[in-house]
Amino acid sequence: MNKAIAFPFLIDFDLKTGQCASGKVQPTKRYVSNLLEQFADREAAQAIVDAGDAQVYEFFELEQIPEQPGELRYGTSIVLPGKVGDEYFMTKGHFHTVLETAEVYYCLSGEGAMLMETPEGDVDIQWLRPGAGLYIPPRWAHRSINTGRERLVTFFTFPANAGHDYGTIEQKGFRKILVERDGAPALVDNPRWK
Ligand code: MN
Repeated sequence: MNKAIAFPFLIDFDLKTGQCASGKVQPTKRYVSNLLEQFADREAAQAIVDAGDAQVYEFFELEQIPEQPGELRYGTSIVLPGKVGDEYFMTKGHFHTVLETAEVYYCLSGEGAMLMETPEGDVDIQWLRPGAGLYIPPRWAHRSINTGRERLVTFFTFPANAGHDYGTIEQKGFRKILVERDGAPALVDNPRWK
């Protein structure tokens, strides 16, 4: 088991871009090629990959914080503007492996939404604008979605022992997807939901 963090420390995050300029936290980047199981329009996704691929999002997470009860992990998430077919750029989305753990997101810049659902089939969407502080209760899978023209930047924190279950969403999908209809976001049934 990792040792607990014994002393306070600071990490710099740019409030507009979400970047960690000091380099103390390194970004993890995800491309359309990493989300071929998530976007509903597989042909549109493959076409983007074949044309050279495109970055969809990145996140800075403090992985040096041990995954044990009592600790908190935190960082920033940056979803780029764009679409695959008519579906907005989004994160993979996940449940926490320890389902009974919550998370807080605070929107720093950009505009978009957090799409959420429970294993029992409850669905919710909350719209993110700078200053919006979102509480995601235990049990809710979550995915950030960029509906704007700028980057959607959020700060997040969650119990460090929560863990990430990406597989369930990868296999089943979310019940709903957020697409553009007549220039505005519309929440519709996911044709690929299993
Ligand atoms: Mn989470």
